Amino acid sequence: MTTDPSCLFCRIASGDLPSDRVLETEHVVAFRDIAPKAPTHVLVIPREHIPSLEGLEERHGETIGRLHVAAARIAREEGLEDGWRAVINVGADAGQTVFHVHLHLLGGRPLHWPPG
Ligand code: AMP
Repeated sequence: MTTDPSCLFCRIASGDLPSDRVLETEHVVAFRDIAPKAPTHVLVIPREHIPSLEGLEERHGETIGRLHVAAARIAREEGLEDGWRAVINVGADAGQTVFHVHLHLLGGRPLHWPPG
């Protein structure tokens, strides 16, 4: 499994940097966003260093699927039965600032569509 010691989210995944964790498994780690955009705002990341959905390969499919399975579990645990959103920003135009793929789980308030 590839990791990058200079990557912020690799360092959070390894425990080298602190985070407010809500879930961890063999393959994924989830923690609360430091600047939440909704009452529930959790980031779900793979332990493997995958920079972005851009350039994703077939071999990454299971890992990316696991992000969604983890998000669904966290949404249930957070009581988001009225709905929630899973967002993955890809590249600069979409606002991706951390180049370690991450799923934003947002919920706890009505979410507008389309997003900005
Ligand atoms: P994106 O803009 O899609 O790349 O999302 C990056 C997210 O990471 C933003 O929502 C930030 O608030 C969040 N973030 C950055 N540093 C940390 C950190 N140390 N702990 C938790 N969330 C962070």
